[in-house]
Amino acid sequence: MRVLVAGGAGFIGSNLCARLLDDGHEVWCADNFVTGRAKNIAPLADSPRFFFAEADIIGGLPPMPRLDAVFHLASPASPPGYQRFPIETMRVNSEGTRHLLDRATVDVARFLYASTSEAYGDPLEHPQLETYRGNVSSTGPRSMYDEAKRYGEALTMAYHRTRGADARIVRIFNTYGPQSDPEDGRLVPNFITQALRRQPLTVYADGRQTRSLCYVSDLVEGLVRALDCDAARGEVINLGNPEEHTILEFAEIIRELTGSRSELVFSEPAVGDDPQRRRPDISRARHLLGWEPAISLWDGLARTTRYFREELGLLEPSESH
Ligand code: UDP
Repeated sequence: MRVLVAGGAGFIGSNLCARLLDDGHEVWCADNFVTGRAKNIAPLADSPRFFFAEADIIGGLPPMPRLDAVFHLASPASPPGYQRFPIETMRVNSEGTRHLLDRATVDVARFLYASTSEAYGDPLEHPQLETYRGNVSSTGPRSMYDEAKRYGEALTMAYHRTRGADARIVRIFNTYGPQSDPEDGRLVPNFITQALRRQPLTVYADGRQTRSLCYVSDLVEGLVRALDCDAARGEVINLGNPEEHTILEFAEIIRELTGSRSELVFSEPAVGDDPQRRRPDISRARHLLGWEPAISLWDGLARTTRYFREELGLLEPSESH
């Protein structure tokens, strides 16, 4: 297949590009580096089946041959990231999605829209099923992301229903692993780099809010299966790991894993409206895709720690004294 990954230099996008190349596909990657990073795709450039275009899909697609499949992963996704680029976030999920859907329709290509658990806002139902309609603010500090993604979902469904687009939507829950930006401000990059630098771990609020973390190779497996699955046409599917922990528990696990003696400091989050609980119900992904996460939290965090250590040239705290 010839596959376009929009946002292919980002954290999940670059892991997906590598996987698609391994599977023998021809991979076209488009990214404008607003939050993506050239270093994420540098190792892929050696492949004769990898093509990169520095392009902002808000303005349309760069020239490329007929496509068999399109993954739309182009968007800032960390809370500080989408707060820094609110207009870009709204435009890439609206105008950008429209350009990609137009192209997928003309090429009769499969289309996958990467939506988010933020589509549920600060959920009042727990765990979150795809049928839950959410508790979202249209004007709050996360609205530029949450509402942009909800619009992108609605547009995807409109193309599916009225133009026959072979489209599916996945709602991606918190994901971590190699190639994530150590400076993007998210939980796992923050805690691991703080632990390795022997700095305090910054716990927002009281740390009793929860998240459920999925390792990136598991997530990528879910994306590939969702794209391939005929029964996923016109469906929305949660992808994430249902193992739920408080932020304080994650801090403890990361301190133990890294051998860190870092203290915890409690502060207000940079981005408000923090969802208090989040855990995917993945029954639909299990049923439609035969998918569930395989990598344990400990194993995934250990691999991620190795990545950040090499990336930043940091020693284990226990090695530095
Ligand atoms: N968080 C934290 N300290 C940090 C970064 C994040 O306590 O340094 C908390 C944050 O308040 C939220 C959770 O970790 O409850 C996940 O935050 P993240 O920014 O990774 O993603 P979100 O799920 O909010 O999109």
